[in-house]
Amino acid sequence: MRDIVTILGVPIDRITKKEAGEITEKLIKESNKTCKMIFAPNTEFIMYAQKDKQYYELLKKSELSTPDSIGVIIAGKLQHKPFKERIPGQAYFREIIELSNEKGYSIYLLGGEEGIPEKAKENLQKIYPNVNIIGTHHGYFTPEEEKDVIAEINALKPNVLFVALGAPKQEKWIAEHQHELQVDVAAGQGGTYDYEAGKIKRAPVWIQKIGMEWLWRLILQPSRIIRMRVLPIFLLKILFTKDITKGKFDKE
Ligand code: UDP
Repeated sequence: MRDIVTILGVPIDRITKKEAGEITEKLIKESNKTCKMIFAPNTEFIMYAQKDKQYYELLKKSELSTPDSIGVIIAGKLQHKPFKERIPGQAYFREIIELSNEKGYSIYLLGGEEGIPEKAKENLQKIYPNVNIIGTHHGYFTPEEEKDVIAEINALKPNVLFVALGAPKQEKWIAEHQHELQVDVAAGQGGTYDYEAGKIKRAPVWIQKIGMEWLWRLILQPSRIIRMRVLPIFLLKILFTKDITKGKFDKE
Protein backbone atom coordinates (compact mmCIF):
# COMPACT_ATOMS: atom_id res chain seq x y z
CA MET A 1 0.00 0.00 0.00
CA ARG A 2 1.33 3.41 -0.95
CA ASP A 3 1.59 6.06 1.74
CA ILE A 4 0.44 9.11 -0.20
CA VAL A 5 -0.13 12.78 0.50
CA THR A 6 -2.48 14.41 -2.00
CA ILE A 7 -1.84 18.09 -2.71
CA LEU A 8 -4.49 19.93 -4.75
CA GLY A 9 -5.37 16.59 -6.32
CA VAL A 10 -1.80 15.47 -7.07
CA PRO A 11 -0.64 12.34 -5.19
CA ILE A 12 2.92 12.27 -3.85
CA ASP A 13 4.53 9.36 -1.98
CA ARG A 14 5.87 9.70 1.58
CA ILE A 15 9.13 7.91 1.06
CA THR A 16 12.85 8.32 1.54
CA LYS A 17 15.28 8.36 -1.37
CA LYS A 18 16.31 4.81 -0.49
CA GLU A 19 12.70 3.64 -0.48
CA ALA A 20 12.17 5.33 -3.86
CA GLY A 21 15.05 3.22 -5.17
CA GLU A 22 13.55 0.05 -3.68
CA ILE A 23 10.11 0.78 -5.17
CA THR A 24 11.69 1.42 -8.56
CA GLU A 25 13.53 -1.90 -8.33
CA LYS A 26 10.27 -3.66 -7.50
CA LEU A 27 8.57 -1.98 -10.47
CA ILE A 28 11.45 -3.05 -12.74
CA LYS A 29 11.02 -6.64 -11.60
CA GLU A 30 7.23 -6.68 -12.00
CA SER A 31 6.70 -4.43 -15.00
CA ASN A 32 7.55 -6.79 -17.85
CA LYS A 33 8.16 -3.77 -20.16
CA THR A 34 4.80 -2.13 -19.46
CA CYS A 35 6.29 1.33 -18.85
CA LYS A 36 5.31 2.22 -15.30
CA MET A 37 5.33 6.00 -14.86
CA ILE A 38 7.45 7.77 -12.23
CA PHE A 39 7.13 11.53 -11.69
CA ALA A 40 8.66 14.11 -9.39
CA PRO A 41 5.91 16.70 -8.93
CA ASN A 42 6.93 20.12 -7.66
CA THR A 43 4.84 23.25 -7.05
CA GLU A 44 5.00 24.23 -10.73
CA PHE A 45 3.58 20.83 -11.75
CA ILE A 46 0.78 21.10 -9.20
CA MET A 47 -0.18 24.62 -10.25
CA TYR A 48 -0.03 23.73 -13.93
CA ALA A 49 -2.27 20.73 -13.22
CA GLN A 50 -4.95 23.12 -11.88
CA LYS A 51 -5.43 24.55 -15.36
CA ASP A 52 -4.76 21.49 -17.54
CA LYS A 53 -7.13 18.61 -16.89
CA GLN A 54 -5.18 16.15 -19.05
CA TYR A 55 -2.01 16.85 -17.04
CA TYR A 56 -3.99 16.66 -13.81
CA GLU A 57 -5.31 13.23 -14.72
CA LEU A 58 -1.98 11.81 -15.87
CA LEU A 59 -0.17 12.89 -12.68
CA LYS A 60 -2.63 10.67 -10.81
CA LYS A 61 -1.58 7.66 -12.88
CA SER A 62 2.01 7.41 -11.65
CA GLU A 63 3.23 4.31 -9.85
CA LEU A 64 5.62 6.48 -7.85
CA SER A 65 5.78 10.26 -7.32
CA THR A 66 8.69 11.66 -5.37
CA PRO A 67 8.52 14.89 -3.32
CA ASP A 68 10.83 17.22 -5.20
CA SER A 69 10.27 20.74 -3.88
CA ILE A 70 10.13 22.78 -0.71
CA GLY A 71 6.53 23.85 -1.48
CA VAL A 72 5.48 20.19 -1.51
CA ILE A 73 7.26 19.61 1.82
CA ILE A 74 5.40 22.59 3.38
CA ALA A 75 2.07 21.27 2.04
CA GLY A 76 2.80 17.91 3.71
CA LYS A 77 3.43 19.62 7.05
CA LEU A 78 0.21 21.62 6.75
CA GLN A 79 -1.72 18.36 6.34
CA HIS A 80 0.05 16.91 9.41
CA LYS A 81 1.47 14.25 7.10
CA PRO A 82 5.07 15.39 6.85
CA PHE A 83 7.19 13.91 4.09
CA LYS A 84 10.13 11.86 5.32
CA GLU A 85 12.55 13.94 3.23
CA ARG A 86 12.74 16.05 0.12
CA ILE A 87 14.05 14.07 -2.83
CA PRO A 88 15.51 16.41 -5.45
CA GLY A 89 15.29 15.03 -9.01
CA GLN A 90 19.03 14.56 -9.22
CA ALA A 91 19.16 12.64 -5.92
CA TYR A 92 16.59 10.13 -7.19
CA PHE A 93 18.46 9.90 -10.48
CA ARG A 94 21.73 9.13 -8.67
CA GLU A 95 19.99 6.48 -6.54
CA ILE A 96 18.96 4.65 -9.72
CA ILE A 97 22.38 5.16 -11.30
CA GLU A 98 23.94 3.56 -8.19
CA LEU A 99 21.52 0.62 -8.42
CA SER A 100 22.47 0.21 -12.08
CA ASN A 101 26.14 0.31 -11.14
CA GLU A 102 25.62 -2.40 -8.49
CA LYS A 103 23.03 -4.61 -10.16
CA GLY A 104 23.34 -3.90 -13.88
CA TYR A 105 19.88 -2.39 -14.56
CA SER A 106 19.94 -0.87 -18.03
CA ILE A 107 19.25 2.83 -18.49
CA TYR A 108 18.42 5.06 -21.45
CA LEU A 109 18.85 8.84 -21.20
CA LEU A 110 16.44 10.81 -23.37
CA GLY A 111 16.41 14.62 -23.39
CA GLY A 112 18.57 17.69 -23.03
CA GLU A 113 20.43 19.54 -25.75
CA GLU A 114 22.50 17.69 -28.31
CA GLY A 115 25.63 16.26 -26.61
CA ILE A 116 24.30 16.76 -23.06
CA PRO A 117 23.00 13.22 -22.32
CA GLU A 118 26.23 11.82 -23.85
CA LYS A 119 28.37 14.10 -21.66
CA ALA A 120 26.26 13.17 -18.63
CA LYS A 121 26.85 9.49 -19.41
CA GLU A 122 30.59 10.04 -19.78
CA ASN A 123 30.81 11.88 -16.44
CA LEU A 124 28.70 9.27 -14.65
CA GLN A 125 30.86 6.44 -15.98
CA LYS A 126 33.88 8.08 -14.32
CA ILE A 127 32.13 7.90 -10.94
CA TYR A 128 30.23 4.62 -11.49
CA PRO A 129 32.39 2.42 -13.75
CA ASN A 130 29.78 -0.35 -14.00
CA VAL A 131 26.75 1.86 -14.66
CA ASN A 132 24.77 0.34 -17.53
CA ILE A 133 23.67 3.30 -19.69
CA ILE A 134 22.78 1.60 -22.98
CA GLY A 135 21.53 4.55 -25.00
CA THR A 136 21.16 8.34 -25.19
CA HIS A 137 19.29 10.81 -27.38
CA HIS A 138 18.83 14.57 -27.18
CA GLY A 139 15.39 16.00 -26.50
CA TYR A 140 14.90 18.28 -29.51
CA PHE A 141 13.60 15.73 -32.00
CA THR A 142 10.90 16.54 -34.58
CA PRO A 143 7.61 14.63 -34.72
CA GLU A 144 9.05 12.75 -37.73
CA GLU A 145 12.22 11.81 -35.83
CA GLU A 146 10.18 10.71 -32.83
CA LYS A 147 9.31 7.38 -34.45
CA ASP A 148 13.01 6.54 -34.82
CA VAL A 149 13.73 7.59 -31.22
CA ILE A 150 10.98 5.27 -29.94
CA ALA A 151 12.15 2.47 -32.27
CA GLU A 152 15.69 2.77 -30.87
CA ILE A 153 14.45 2.70 -27.28
CA ASN A 154 12.26 -0.33 -28.05
CA ALA A 155 15.13 -2.15 -29.73
CA LEU A 156 17.22 -1.68 -26.57
CA LYS A 157 14.35 -2.32 -24.09
CA PRO A 158 15.98 -0.60 -21.13
CA ASN A 159 14.84 -1.22 -17.59
CA VAL A 160 14.70 2.52 -16.93
CA LEU A 161 13.98 5.29 -19.42
CA PHE A 162 14.80 8.74 -18.03
CA VAL A 163 12.99 11.49 -19.92
CA ALA A 164 14.27 15.06 -19.51
CA LEU A 165 12.17 17.36 -21.68
CA GLY A 166 11.14 19.79 -18.92
CA ALA A 167 7.69 19.83 -17.28
CA PRO A 168 4.94 19.43 -18.36
CA LYS A 169 6.30 18.15 -21.68
CA GLN A 170 8.16 15.13 -20.27
CA GLU A 171 5.22 13.76 -18.25
CA LYS A 172 2.88 14.29 -21.21
CA TRP A 173 5.34 12.58 -23.53
CA ILE A 174 5.68 9.56 -21.25
CA ALA A 175 1.89 9.25 -20.82
CA GLU A 176 1.26 9.67 -24.55
CA HIS A 177 3.72 6.91 -25.47
CA GLN A 178 3.27 4.69 -22.41
CA HIS A 179 1.59 1.92 -24.38
CA GLU A 180 4.21 1.74 -27.12
CA LEU A 181 7.37 2.15 -25.01
CA GLN A 182 8.93 -1.23 -24.19
CA VAL A 183 10.65 -0.17 -20.98
CA ASP A 184 10.03 -1.24 -17.40
CA VAL A 185 9.77 2.26 -15.97
CA ALA A 186 9.89 5.76 -17.44
CA ALA A 187 10.82 8.62 -15.13
CA GLY A 188 10.49 12.36 -15.81
CA GLN A 189 13.79 13.95 -15.04
CA GLY A 190 13.81 17.75 -15.66
CA GLY A 191 17.20 19.41 -15.84
CA THR A 192 19.29 16.65 -14.21
CA TYR A 193 21.47 15.87 -17.24
CA ASP A 194 22.45 19.54 -17.40
CA TYR A 195 23.93 19.16 -13.90
CA GLU A 196 25.51 15.79 -14.63
CA ALA A 197 27.07 17.14 -17.83
CA GLY A 198 28.48 20.11 -15.90
CA LYS A 199 26.41 22.62 -17.89
CA ILE A 200 24.70 24.01 -14.79
CA LYS A 201 26.14 23.97 -11.28
CA ARG A 202 23.94 22.65 -8.46
CA ALA A 203 23.52 24.65 -5.25
CA PRO A 204 25.99 23.92 -2.43
CA VAL A 205 24.65 21.31 -0.01
CA TRP A 206 23.97 23.86 2.75
CA ILE A 207 21.74 25.86 0.41
CA GLN A 208 19.89 22.67 -0.57
CA LYS A 209 19.47 21.80 3.13
CA ILE A 210 17.82 25.12 4.04
CA GLY A 211 15.40 24.72 1.13
CA MET A 212 16.79 27.62 -0.91
CA GLU A 213 17.87 25.73 -4.00
CA TRP A 214 15.11 27.48 -5.98
CA LEU A 215 16.79 30.85 -5.26
CA TRP A 216 20.18 29.54 -6.43
CA ARG A 217 18.62 28.27 -9.66
CA LEU A 218 16.89 31.61 -10.15
CA ILE A 219 20.21 33.44 -9.85
CA LEU A 220 21.86 31.10 -12.38
CA GLN A 221 18.86 31.08 -14.74
CA PRO A 222 16.97 34.40 -14.25
CA SER A 223 14.51 33.43 -16.98
CA ARG A 224 13.00 30.99 -14.47
CA ILE A 225 11.34 33.95 -12.72
CA ILE A 226 8.36 33.60 -15.08
CA ARG A 227 7.85 29.99 -13.99
CA MET A 228 8.47 30.77 -10.34
CA ARG A 229 5.70 33.33 -10.03
CA VAL A 230 3.41 30.38 -9.28
CA LEU A 231 5.20 29.65 -6.00
CA PRO A 232 3.61 32.42 -3.85
CA ILE A 233 0.22 31.62 -5.41
CA PHE A 234 0.71 27.94 -4.50
CA LEU A 235 1.58 28.86 -0.89
CA LEU A 236 -1.47 31.11 -0.57
CA LYS A 237 -3.66 28.37 -2.03
CA ILE A 238 -2.48 25.69 0.37
CA LEU A 239 -2.76 28.06 3.33
CA PHE A 240 -6.28 29.24 2.59
CA THR A 241 -7.98 26.36 0.76
CA LYS A 242 -10.36 24.45 3.03
CA ASP A 243 -9.37 21.01 1.75
CA ILE A 244 -5.90 21.11 0.26
CA THR A 245 -6.10 17.50 -0.89
CA LYS A 246 -8.68 18.52 -3.52
CA GLY A 247 -7.70 20.02 -6.84
CA LYS A 248 -9.62 22.15 -9.25
CA PHE A 249 -10.95 19.24 -11.26
CA ASP A 250 -12.04 17.08 -8.33
CA LYS A 251 -15.77 16.76 -7.84
CA GLU A 252 -16.88 18.32 -4.57
N1 UDP B 1 14.48 19.98 -22.98
C1 UDP B 1 14.51 19.08 -24.04
N2 UDP B 1 13.59 19.24 -25.06
C2 UDP B 1 12.65 20.21 -25.06
C3 UDP B 1 12.61 21.10 -23.95
C4 UDP B 1 13.54 20.94 -22.92
O1 UDP B 1 15.33 18.18 -24.09
O2 UDP B 1 11.87 20.28 -26.01
C5 UDP B 1 15.45 19.78 -21.89
C6 UDP B 1 16.32 20.98 -21.60
O3 UDP B 1 17.45 20.96 -22.45
C7 UDP B 1 16.68 20.74 -20.14
C8 UDP B 1 15.45 20.00 -19.59
O4 UDP B 1 14.72 19.57 -20.71
O5 UDP B 1 17.78 19.89 -20.05
C9 UDP B 1 14.49 20.87 -18.79
O6 UDP B 1 15.11 21.37 -17.74
P1 UDP B 1 14.38 22.32 -16.68
O7 UDP B 1 15.45 23.05 -15.98
O8 UDP B 1 13.29 23.11 -17.34
O9 UDP B 1 13.69 21.23 -15.78
P2 UDP B 1 13.36 21.25 -14.23
O10 UDP B 1 14.52 20.56 -13.58
O11 UDP B 1 13.15 22.65 -13.80
O12 UDP B 1 12.09 20.44 -14.19
